Amino acid sequence: MSEERTFIAVKPDGVQRGLVSDIIGRFERRGYKLVGLKLVQATKELLAQHYAEHVNKPFYPKMAQFMSSGPIVAMCWEGKNVVKQGRVMLGATNPADSAPGTIRGDFGIDLGRNVCHGSDSVESANREIALWFKPEELINWESNQAKWIY
Ligand code: ADP
Ligand code: MG
Repeated sequence: MSEERTFIAVKPDGVQRGLVSDIIGRFERRGYKLVGLKLVQATKELLAQHYAEHVNKPFYPKMAQFMSSGPIVAMCWEGKNVVKQGRVMLGATNPADSAPGTIRGDFGIDLGRNVCHGSDSVESANREIALWFKPEELINWESNQAKWIY
Protein backbone atom coordinates (compact mmCIF):
# COMPACT_ATOMS: atom_id res chain seq x y z
CA MET A 1 0.00 0.00 0.00
CA SER A 2 1.60 3.25 -1.10
CA GLU A 3 -1.21 5.75 -0.40
CA GLU A 4 -2.33 7.19 2.91
CA ARG A 5 -5.58 5.93 4.45
CA THR A 6 -8.02 7.47 6.91
CA PHE A 7 -11.05 6.37 8.92
CA ILE A 8 -14.21 8.37 8.22
CA ALA A 9 -17.54 7.59 9.88
CA VAL A 10 -21.07 8.90 9.48
CA LYS A 11 -22.40 9.13 13.04
CA PRO A 12 -25.94 7.95 13.95
CA ASP A 13 -27.40 11.44 13.40
CA GLY A 14 -25.98 11.53 9.87
CA VAL A 15 -27.36 8.10 9.04
CA GLN A 16 -30.78 8.93 10.51
CA ARG A 17 -30.93 12.18 8.52
CA GLY A 18 -30.11 10.45 5.22
CA LEU A 19 -26.74 12.16 4.75
CA VAL A 20 -24.74 9.01 3.94
CA SER A 21 -24.81 9.36 0.15
CA ASP A 22 -23.83 13.04 0.28
CA ILE A 23 -20.85 12.34 2.51
CA ILE A 24 -19.67 9.38 0.43
CA GLY A 25 -20.17 11.49 -2.71
CA ARG A 26 -17.96 14.29 -1.43
CA PHE A 27 -15.03 11.91 -0.92
CA GLU A 28 -15.65 10.17 -4.26
CA ARG A 29 -15.85 13.43 -6.20
CA ARG A 30 -12.75 14.77 -4.51
CA GLY A 31 -10.95 11.79 -6.02
CA TYR A 32 -10.35 9.59 -2.99
CA LYS A 33 -10.69 5.83 -3.23
CA LEU A 34 -13.12 3.89 -1.06
CA VAL A 35 -11.34 0.79 0.28
CA GLY A 36 -13.63 -0.15 3.20
CA LEU A 37 -17.35 0.41 3.89
CA LYS A 38 -19.86 -1.08 6.33
CA LEU A 39 -22.82 -0.31 8.57
CA VAL A 40 -21.98 -0.90 12.23
CA GLN A 41 -24.04 -0.91 15.41
CA ALA A 42 -21.21 0.17 17.72
CA THR A 43 -20.89 -1.41 21.15
CA LYS A 44 -19.84 0.58 24.22
CA GLU A 45 -16.60 -1.46 24.23
CA LEU A 46 -15.73 -0.46 20.67
CA LEU A 47 -16.55 3.18 21.38
CA ALA A 48 -14.43 3.23 24.54
CA GLN A 49 -11.47 2.02 22.47
CA HIS A 50 -12.19 4.40 19.62
CA TYR A 51 -12.56 7.39 21.96
CA ALA A 52 -9.85 6.30 24.43
CA GLU A 53 -8.65 9.92 24.74
CA HIS A 54 -12.14 11.06 25.83
CA VAL A 55 -13.45 8.23 28.06
CA ASN A 56 -12.80 10.08 31.29
CA LYS A 57 -14.27 13.40 30.15
CA PRO A 58 -17.62 14.61 31.54
CA PHE A 59 -19.32 14.55 28.13
CA TYR A 60 -18.28 10.96 27.35
CA PRO A 61 -21.25 8.98 28.80
CA LYS A 62 -23.79 10.99 26.80
CA MET A 63 -21.65 10.79 23.69
CA ALA A 64 -21.27 7.00 24.01
CA GLN A 65 -25.02 6.70 24.50
CA PHE A 66 -25.63 8.69 21.33
CA MET A 67 -22.96 6.89 19.29
CA SER A 68 -24.49 3.52 20.16
CA SER A 69 -28.09 4.68 19.59
CA GLY A 70 -28.17 3.68 15.91
CA PRO A 71 -26.00 2.47 13.07
CA ILE A 72 -22.77 4.18 12.04
CA VAL A 73 -21.35 4.03 8.51
CA ALA A 74 -17.69 3.11 8.88
CA MET A 75 -15.42 3.91 5.94
CA CYS A 76 -11.80 3.72 4.98
CA TRP A 77 -10.72 6.21 2.30
CA GLU A 78 -7.37 6.21 0.52
CA GLY A 79 -5.41 8.89 -1.32
CA LYS A 80 -2.84 11.65 -1.14
CA ASN A 81 -3.04 13.60 2.16
CA VAL A 82 -6.43 12.02 2.86
CA VAL A 83 -6.05 12.26 6.65
CA LYS A 84 -5.51 16.03 6.68
CA GLN A 85 -7.86 16.77 3.79
CA GLY A 86 -10.53 14.52 5.30
CA ARG A 87 -10.51 16.69 8.41
CA VAL A 88 -10.75 19.81 6.26
CA MET A 89 -13.76 18.32 4.45
CA LEU A 90 -15.44 17.49 7.79
CA GLY A 91 -14.97 21.01 9.17
CA ALA A 92 -14.31 22.18 12.72
CA THR A 93 -15.44 19.88 15.56
CA ASN A 94 -18.00 22.39 16.80
CA PRO A 95 -20.47 23.19 14.00
CA ALA A 96 -20.66 26.72 15.42
CA ASP A 97 -17.12 27.19 14.07
CA SER A 98 -17.23 25.04 10.94
CA ALA A 99 -17.21 26.81 7.60
CA PRO A 100 -20.03 26.49 5.06
CA GLY A 101 -18.93 24.05 2.39
CA THR A 102 -17.68 21.56 4.97
CA ILE A 103 -19.85 18.62 6.04
CA ARG A 104 -20.37 19.92 9.57
CA GLY A 105 -20.70 23.50 8.33
CA ASP A 106 -23.40 22.46 5.87
CA PHE A 107 -25.36 20.02 8.05
CA GLY A 108 -24.65 20.53 11.74
CA ILE A 109 -25.53 22.93 14.52
CA ASP A 110 -24.79 20.87 17.63
CA LEU A 111 -21.37 19.82 19.00
CA GLY A 112 -22.67 16.47 20.23
CA ARG A 113 -24.42 15.73 16.92
CA ASN A 114 -21.81 16.80 14.42
CA VAL A 115 -22.66 14.22 11.75
CA CYS A 116 -19.27 12.67 11.09
CA HIS A 117 -15.92 11.51 12.41
CA GLY A 118 -12.49 11.67 10.79
CA SER A 119 -9.09 10.55 12.04
CA ASP A 120 -6.94 13.44 13.29
CA SER A 121 -3.49 12.06 12.32
CA VAL A 122 -1.91 9.25 10.33
CA GLU A 123 -1.20 7.47 13.62
CA SER A 124 -4.84 7.77 14.76
CA ALA A 125 -6.01 6.66 11.32
CA ASN A 126 -3.98 3.47 11.45
CA ARG A 127 -5.24 2.73 14.97
CA GLU A 128 -8.89 3.44 14.10
CA ILE A 129 -8.85 1.50 10.80
CA ALA A 130 -7.46 -1.54 12.64
CA LEU A 131 -10.14 -1.13 15.33
CA TRP A 132 -13.16 -0.88 12.99
CA PHE A 133 -12.08 -3.17 10.14
CA LYS A 134 -10.69 -6.67 9.81
CA PRO A 135 -7.80 -6.80 7.31
CA GLU A 136 -9.92 -8.76 4.79
CA GLU A 137 -12.61 -6.04 4.85
CA LEU A 138 -10.19 -3.56 3.24
CA ILE A 139 -10.00 -4.03 -0.52
CA ASN A 140 -7.01 -3.09 -2.66
CA TRP A 141 -8.34 -2.26 -6.11
CA GLU A 142 -7.25 -0.31 -9.17
CA SER A 143 -9.44 2.23 -10.91
CA ASN A 144 -9.89 1.63 -14.64
CA GLN A 145 -11.40 5.08 -15.04
CA ALA A 146 -8.53 6.61 -16.99
CA LYS A 147 -8.64 3.67 -19.41
CA TRP A 148 -12.28 4.07 -20.34
CA ILE A 149 -12.63 7.83 -20.22
CA TYR A 150 -9.61 8.79 -22.32
P1 ADP B 1 -13.27 15.50 16.52
O1 ADP B 1 -14.48 14.62 16.34
O2 ADP B 1 -13.33 16.70 15.62
O3 ADP B 1 -11.97 14.75 16.40
P2 ADP B 1 -12.83 15.53 19.41
O4 ADP B 1 -11.92 14.37 19.21
O5 ADP B 1 -12.32 16.67 20.19
O6 ADP B 1 -13.35 16.10 18.00
O7 ADP B 1 -14.16 15.03 20.11
C1 ADP B 1 -14.81 13.86 19.69
C2 ADP B 1 -16.30 14.11 19.60
O8 ADP B 1 -16.81 14.31 20.91
C3 ADP B 1 -16.67 15.37 18.83
O9 ADP B 1 -16.81 15.12 17.44
C4 ADP B 1 -17.97 15.80 19.47
O10 ADP B 1 -19.09 15.16 18.85
C5 ADP B 1 -17.85 15.28 20.88
N1 ADP B 1 -17.47 16.33 21.83
C6 ADP B 1 -16.26 16.92 21.94
N2 ADP B 1 -16.25 17.83 22.92
C7 ADP B 1 -17.51 17.83 23.46
C8 ADP B 1 -18.16 18.55 24.51
N3 ADP B 1 -17.53 19.46 25.23
N4 ADP B 1 -19.47 18.27 24.75
C9 ADP B 1 -20.13 17.34 24.04
N5 ADP B 1 -19.58 16.61 23.04
C10 ADP B 1 -18.29 16.86 22.74
MG1 MG C 1 -11.02 13.44 17.61
